[in-house]
Amino acid sequence: MAIARGTSPKRPLNRVIASCPPSGIRRFFDIASQMEGVISLGVGEPDFVTPQSIREAGIRALEEGHTSYTGNSGLPKLREGICSLLERRHGVRYDPESECLITVGVSEALDLALRVLINPGDEVIVPTPCYVAYEPCIQFAGGVAVTIPTYMEEGFRLDPGRVEAAITSKTKAILIASPANPTGATQSRENLIRLVEIAHQYDLYIISDEIYERLTYEGEPTCVGALPLARERTVVLNGFSKSHAMTGWRVGYACGPEPILRLMTRVHQYTMLCASHISQLAAIEAIENGDSAVEAMVADYDKRRRIFVEGLNQIGLDCLMPQGAFYTFPSIKRYGLTSEEFAERLLQEERVAVVPGTAFGVAGEGHIRCSYATALTKIEEALERMERFLRRLENA
Ligand code: PLP
Repeated sequence: MAIARGTSPKRPLNRVIASCPPSGIRRFFDIASQMEGVISLGVGEPDFVTPQSIREAGIRALEEGHTSYTGNSGLPKLREGICSLLERRHGVRYDPESECLITVGVSEALDLALRVLINPGDEVIVPTPCYVAYEPCIQFAGGVAVTIPTYMEEGFRLDPGRVEAAITSKTKAILIASPANPTGATQSRENLIRLVEIAHQYDLYIISDEIYERLTYEGEPTCVGALPLARERTVVLNGFSKSHAMTGWRVGYACGPEPILRLMTRVHQYTMLCASHISQLAAIEAIENGDSAVEAMVADYDKRRRIFVEGLNQIGLDCLMPQGAFYTFPSIKRYGLTSEEFAERLLQEERVAVVPGTAFGVAGEGHIRCSYATALTKIEEALERMERFLRRLENA
């Protein structure tokens, strides 16, 4: 017997979420996945599998039956390992008991930090082009994203003067990432110090997304929480997805002052309960024995970075040498197409998938994001196809 389905409710769903457009990356890759022979430079994740000893730790965790919840904050041994790592690498001390929370990737840590810091209508300053999730997550938390552009001509440097000019009585926080997605740019230590001084002067919080910190090729990476005046107003977010090729394991963390971490833990306690127990045990292995694998992957990305950037410039796509992450963000301005048009035609005509710069905010117009988290042979083939495409555009 058929069960009556009833009528669809007329009551509106959540307005903020309903008005948020789908991610410009996903939309594009749904098209690419339907096509044959596509070389994807669109991916935002390592092309390596998780290093073997970490995978084995995960297998061991399963075999030993570690299939229960962990405490809400995460395994004490993992929190201790993370806090020691931050102290060793950056000289900043966090209490593993009260100032460190294990999350479901940096994604959850970002969401929690925003929810805890924002009251309805609070403004968060975000340099753009930026990671696709920043603006939606600020809005979902009831805040308003105030974007400030960065420019290729300035090396995508975050201009502290522009940040200061964007501050209003409603500004609550600044959200930054160095190295950044999609530009691969890192901010100089001096610049970050200036930014912290501004946050201190105007009593603002800082959320520092440091997920690409280990993938820094030039200069010493900076942990913003370790800078003078920063510690008490900064939430540092990091994780294992990019550094240890562990995107699917979903482990990240937040470190910061106790009052903020306490409230983040409270939300997490009611929403996620904990990150996967198995993944947390694998992350302990990543911290204890993962360094050489990270170094090998970083050396490989670095080699591809140099070859790719040289190739892009040679074929006529002006591109800065990114100092971190695994993205290039070349300019397409001279070809007279929007970044959407350029990416769509490149996909249709040459089967190379890149991401239009506008997926990362309006400041991304005139650029495309190309990832080099893909094999060198594919990068070389993609360069040939892109060159063919560009010559056709020039002769049209
Ligand atoms: N932050 C940035 C800047 C990213 O690029 C990404 C993923 O691409 C994330 C956070 C999400 O990381 P996770 O996999 O740890 O949730």
